[in-house]
Amino acid sequence: MGMPDRKLPLLTTETEAFWTGGKDGCLMIQRCTACGLYQHPPLPICSACRTETVLPTAVSGRARIKTFTINHQAWVPGLDEKFVFAAVELEEQAEIYVFTNILAPPEKVHSGMAVKVCFEHHEDVWLPMFELAGGPDAS
Ligand SMILES: [Zn+2]
Repeated sequence: MGMPDRKLPLLTTETEAFWTGGKDGCLMIQRCTACGLYQHPPLPICSACRTETVLPTAVSGRARIKTFTINHQAWVPGLDEKFVFAAVELEEQAEIYVFTNILAPPEKVHSGMAVKVCFEHHEDVWLPMFELAGGPDAS
């Protein structure tokens, strides 16, 4: 009974690759082998062509911040009081978003910044998070 100490994602057939790809340093995004489209979150079928030929595929891990919010409340003991929660658009395909934490001071984060994946390991889960990629857009 009671609340769990921390909330980790539930692994299902569709989501397991996404949450465990960090073990091999890979961000795994589901891709349809019939039409080639990526989709996220994972689904049992391709949302574009309706076939079941969807497979987790390693992507570059490079993305751009689309939108973000700064969370001022500590939801879980041990989390930093302020953190950046963002939707990042993956380099591979427009409008494929991963909702994630950005590991950077909130005042350094703005929309359009280049980010790259990193992973935080908890038990059997590697939480994909993103950090600033540097380069011309970094400030
Ligand atoms: Zn498809």
